[in-house]
Amino acid sequence: MTFIIGCCFGSFGYLLATRLPKNSSLFPPSHCEACNTRLSWLELIPLLSFLLQKGRCRHCQTKIPLDYLIAEITCGLLFTLCLNYSPANPIITCFWLYSAWLLSISDYYFKILETSIFLVTSLVLWLGQSYLKMPFHWQTFLYCLLFAALFSYYYREKLGVGDLLLLLAWSPWLSFWQFSMLLFLSSSFGLLYFIVAKLLQKNSDRLPFIPFLSCGLFLVLHFNKTIHALFILAWELP
Ligand SMILES: [Zn+2]
Repeated sequence: MTFIIGCCFGSFGYLLATRLPKNSSLFPPSHCEACNTRLSWLELIPLLSFLLQKGRCRHCQTKIPLDYLIAEITCGLLFTLCLNYSPANPIITCFWLYSAWLLSISDYYFKILETSIFLVTSLVLWLGQSYLKMPFHWQTFLYCLLFAALFSYYYREKLGVGDLLLLLAWSPWLSFWQFSMLLFLSSSFGLLYFIVAKLLQKNSDRLPFIPFLSCGLFLVLHFNKTIHALFILAWELP
């Protein structure tokens, strides 16, 4: 059931994350990008419509991008994992990672931090965490401020202002260890992607970094103890 709910949020979120950066209205509701036919509710059921129509528009037979399906499935999995297996408060963890997922989609397609999604979700995250009386990690916040200041001074072109703002919004709700792991994991993923892209000779001028930050956040929120144990193990190896 949580998977289905996640898929529905995925379907709506994909629309939000791809329309808001273009300043296009959320109305009229979904239509085929190729023939502009307005889609009926039968064609808007997450997963099912795509599979029943064999990935094609019912009216003009144009292929529907696979991205829709991938977005719905990843969001469905995200909700299932967060709501059933999250070690912290499942609702706030789910909301936090869903917002990261939305921002990742905007960053992936438009290489920006979508301001409206960022501001609204950060505000809800801060209010929610404060309401639940979660510890505010001043140390991490100040460390992140220092990191952001140094980075924007020396390496402005490597990491965008958007990525730094997002890190600042997340930082007080992570322990110092979690935040350090987040930086380590996301930059490792970024580096790995960069190497693979170079090997495949795919040229990209700027890497969308929010998807890597989001993967790192997912791991530190769910597998903090495992990562910690692995690190201690690696440290003690001769
Ligand atoms: Zn069509």
